Amino acid sequence: MTMKTVGILGGGQLARMMVLAGAPLGLRFELFDPAADACGAQLAPLQVAAFEDEAALAAFAARVDVVTFDFENVPAHSARFLAARVPVHPHPDALAVAQDRLSEKTLFQQLGIPLPPFADIRSRDELAARVAEFGMPCIVKTRRLGYDGKGQFRIRSAADIDAAWATLGDYVEKTGLILEGFVAFDREVSVVAVRGRDGEFRAWPVTGNWHVDGVLSASLAPAQLSPALHERAIGHARALAERLDYVGVFALELFCRGDELLVNEMAPRVHNSGHWTIEGSETSQFENHLRAVLGLPLGDTRMLGHACMLNWLGAMPEAAAVLGQPGGHWHDYGKQPRAGRKVGHATLRDADAQALADALDAVGAQLDRTAQVAPLIAALRS
Ligand code: AMP
Repeated sequence: MTMKTVGILGGGQLARMMVLAGAPLGLRFELFDPAADACGAQLAPLQVAAFEDEAALAAFAARVDVVTFDFENVPAHSARFLAARVPVHPHPDALAVAQDRLSEKTLFQQLGIPLPPFADIRSRDELAARVAEFGMPCIVKTRRLGYDGKGQFRIRSAADIDAAWATLGDYVEKTGLILEGFVAFDREVSVVAVRGRDGEFRAWPVTGNWHVDGVLSASLAPAQLSPALHERAIGHARALAERLDYVGVFALELFCRGDELLVNEMAPRVHNSGHWTIEGSETSQFENHLRAVLGLPLGDTRMLGHACMLNWLGAMPEAAAVLGQPGGHWHDYGKQPRAGRKVGHATLRDADAQALADALDAVGAQLDRTAQVAPLIAALRS
């Protein structure tokens, strides 16, 4: 393979892990991010510029063979500007759909993928009327630019309608708003999947996810789902990828309630709930994303055992507790500590579910994270 240069819009930890996965393939990388301290810059050259800066984008396009993303909120017109100069995967149209909760939910509906009730909201009166229709609790979300539970307001009582409007009403103009029915889910799962340029589709086993305050805290693969639900979840991801003519890795987040699977959202990029694939599967999401965008054969997505991932938010804990476990792996993104910031993760893997539960138990006790590991241990021991 002649040496190729991959351009990545966004230079955070996802870009950083792509660079780590691409090095053995002989790939070079160029990153583009408005933040000079983007943590991917420790591993690859970074162009610091606004995503709207067309002169900087044109210079970037001239240095790379293909462009992809570590960040889905790159303005769609910037992605299209690049696509006029160099191949961009996933396609800017797919990015545009996934950037807007209303357009992605409308697409899910067209594909026959079940989802909670939703409505476009343009005024306080419309909000009040839809809350009455959906019932409480329900959730107001910004249509665009929301992530990790940001730009959301839960309405639990009639008094919350005014509070929600006071907090998010301004966003009608800036990003749009939607209201969503609340799902009292049994569990949350995600499908991380990849589609190649030739249309080949592969998915990793469905992952179970636990969120705290809207932010991913821990993942366990495979998720505890019946084979039928597992297949249904992957079928939804395949239908979506085919409709969007998607190229690369994406994640589809779903709520599981009894025998129902309700879709929440898609992320048009490698995803936090797929970080376990680095050590837990034959081919990681990062490597397969690169293979897909470069038109190379996709790698096998089979698991190498039970795997779980613990996110580190705010500051890194001591590594020794994880590194001392068989199948324990450590990822420090090289970021400055800051409250709530994703600064790293750990993956633990074991062929035996009970042994993995024991390892998690030990890690939770040593790092004072018993609440974070408890649901995973319960799932592994059930
Ligand atoms: P999101 O940014 O849409 O992925 O939301 C972040 C998290 O908030 C989800 O992973 C859920 O834990 C929770 N959440 C979001 N929307 C809903 C909903 N409609 N019903 C129940 N929980 C939700």
